[in-house]
Amino acid sequence: MLRAAARTPNLELRTDNPLIHLLDLTLEQLQQALVEQDVPKYRAAQIRKWIFEKRAASFDEMTDLPKGLRERLAGQFAIFTSTIAAHQVADDGTEKLLLQWPDQHRIECVLIREGTRRTICISTQVGCAMGCVFCASGLDGVARNLTTGEIIEQMLLLNRIQTAEERLSNIVVMGMGEPLANLDRLLPALEIASRSEGLGIGGRRITISTVGLPPAMDRLTAMHTNYSLAVSLHAPNDELRTQIVPVNKNITIASVIEAADRFFAENGRRLTFEYVLLGELNDRTEHARQLVELLRGRTAHLNVIPYNPVAGLPYRTPSRKAEERFLEILRDGGINVCVRARKGDQIDAACGQLRRSAPGGEMPLVELKV
Ligand code: SF4
Repeated sequence: MLRAAARTPNLELRTDNPLIHLLDLTLEQLQQALVEQDVPKYRAAQIRKWIFEKRAASFDEMTDLPKGLRERLAGQFAIFTSTIAAHQVADDGTEKLLLQWPDQHRIECVLIREGTRRTICISTQVGCAMGCVFCASGLDGVARNLTTGEIIEQMLLLNRIQTAEERLSNIVVMGMGEPLANLDRLLPALEIASRSEGLGIGGRRITISTVGLPPAMDRLTAMHTNYSLAVSLHAPNDELRTQIVPVNKNITIASVIEAADRFFAENGRRLTFEYVLLGELNDRTEHARQLVELLRGRTAHLNVIPYNPVAGLPYRTPSRKAEERFLEILRDGGINVCVRARKGDQIDAACGQLRRSAPGGEMPLVELKV
């Protein structure tokens, strides 16, 4: 039998599935588990190849494994532990999955098609503790962190809904949750995704988004990964930012920008600031001018994202005129700005919307210290 040690990384997070989540194991842990059952070590690489390269969803498909071994593995491991509670497809090719874990909690993940690019947007937590006022994901706080296996599972399920000719090219960690609050589980998942025997998505094509948690940003900086960082600002001054992003109260914009500067100085990796443009809240000319002052002189991109309305929330999309005026001030101020197109508008594309609207509703959420 598989030793308890192999389950250790995420043991505290999983209590209700008798099978071991195969995707929670490193290659070495899987090798060890097999060797303990007198199965040759090389079988681990074979299994991983079936899952990552050939998109297998069951041991039964692994036809170069002896039938008895396939049956034995199926009795011990689960490749996928979620069920797909909803699958939506938009006219622009964007597809969203609502996944339900064995503990009934639900998260969302998205496949975005743009030209030949296939970008997946994945979640890192059930819910979110950051409480951004415009966001459906954070409306009820956070229930728990996702495990490494659950993060990889999203990638693989999105990989499987592509056609045989399509290949994933980019990962953005911008779904439900604050990625830097679950870094210990996210980083091993990204490591596997970036390996050639994993999904082969190089680190330079992976972007981690954060609301801006300076200690965790510094930790990522010190690791010298080649991931890009996207920092969500959403406001150009502390008063407004604390109103929109409540965690800012104890952080401040200055410390977020300083941590972003340290990341850029150490890693030289692309730095992006994100700004969700909320009609008549943070879209005024004075906000654009303050933003110019804040970002001037930095080698950074600014993504402006016109808000996607969320049912039950009082925030709205900015008027076309306000959006154009806002962008013009930024461009005149020398800021490298672009408007991020809203993909999949028709499928509850804003993070957390599908989870709230799908039958089955919400699970009770609890506070998690981050
Ligand atoms: S926008 Fe991101 S950080 Fe803010 S509450 Fe939503 S998921 Fe959390």
